[in-house]
Amino acid sequence: MAEWRKRWRQWVYSSVALLLALMVSGSLALEALAQEDSPPTDQTAAIWTVGELTFESRYPQGFVFTAQISSSAGPIVRGRVVWSHAPGTQKSRPVEVDPATGRLIATWEPGPGESAPPWLGLTYVWSVGDAAGNAFETEPRYAEYADNSRRWLRSESEDIIVFSQGLPPEVNELTLAAMAEQRETYRAAWGDLLPYKPRAILFGDREAWNEWQVGVSSPNYAGLTRSEWGGTVQRGTSGDLRQLAYGTVLHEVAHLYQDAFTVMPAGSWFTEGNATFFELERYYDYEGAVRALAAAGQLPALLEGPGPGVSGRNARRGYDIGYTFWKWLVDNYGLEGHRALVTLIGQGVRRNNAIEQVTGLSLAEVEQRWRVWLGASPIPPTLIPTPPFFFLPSPTPYTPGK
Ligand SMILES: [Zn+2]
Repeated sequence: MAEWRKRWRQWVYSSVALLLALMVSGSLALEALAQEDSPPTDQTAAIWTVGELTFESRYPQGFVFTAQISSSAGPIVRGRVVWSHAPGTQKSRPVEVDPATGRLIATWEPGPGESAPPWLGLTYVWSVGDAAGNAFETEPRYAEYADNSRRWLRSESEDIIVFSQGLPPEVNELTLAAMAEQRETYRAAWGDLLPYKPRAILFGDREAWNEWQVGVSSPNYAGLTRSEWGGTVQRGTSGDLRQLAYGTVLHEVAHLYQDAFTVMPAGSWFTEGNATFFELERYYDYEGAVRALAAAGQLPALLEGPGPGVSGRNARRGYDIGYTFWKWLVDNYGLEGHRALVTLIGQGVRRNNAIEQVTGLSLAEVEQRWRVWLGASPIPPTLIPTPPFFFLPSPTPYTPGK
């Protein structure tokens, strides 16, 4: 149970971090604009010469860009390297000029709270200006934050890039197969595929997992998914490869879809149930667990009020109940209904209003039909019960690496 809670917390945290990253990159963009607002009056046309561009991963201590760029109109006086791991977010570092060689250098080192796992992809450009006020930007280039200190297995398909270490190599093939199997479901449910190729970075060794976490006192969670990384990092065990590929990765990739196509509140049954809906291999029978709850007269109210939580002792309950809502919706309205619902919410329609629009039913009718489908009485309890226990085959469905 604790692992799920931690994973959820990390997901909330990652959403907050994403917001912060957007704010930071916004201010950087302003700073760059301000610099270019007042070009000197003696601006002359420049001929730009681009020599060698390099990228060096110093994982886990960051990375270094170097470039030979010169202008015929004057020395380089300003510049940044701007990179993004996935579309929509960017980071940058100022450029320094080595006075002896004229070589440009930009360095990134992870500070506290800036932990970056190995094998993130970077698309980057050099953006520089000369003393005469001319600006120049290189073509985008691609690099990876490589961990060359240990053996990694890299696999790539049209759906995903997978990196694994310390795990049996078939985990890569399983992950490619799972993503291929789910491709058309993602496409139909969201309206399109992700605007980038996601990556799954799968760790078998605890020591390798701990290494990239700068300033994290207890990196004891099972995984972390961040849209700004365009991917998910997960710890796995060799006994659980199919679950990792067909369960965890598909679930986490669904969170990437949520961020790319709509706006969902982190840490809610609606969001976690939605990601759970995309798992092809379940940790146990979620629907059966919720049906057991319904049979025991303990199915809580869903749409009015806070609904079931996804943290604390009953964390899994919120995931499972949320899953049954999405299953009910798609059983009745198809993946078209899923797409319509997330589209409306992405346009700013409130969740319950969007549900009413897509189903053509009142909220009470939706709740009733969902409850009856699960075998519960049609009337939701007015007080949300706190059941003394919840039926699970195991209270800790997923504890890799322990
Ligand atoms: Zn999740």
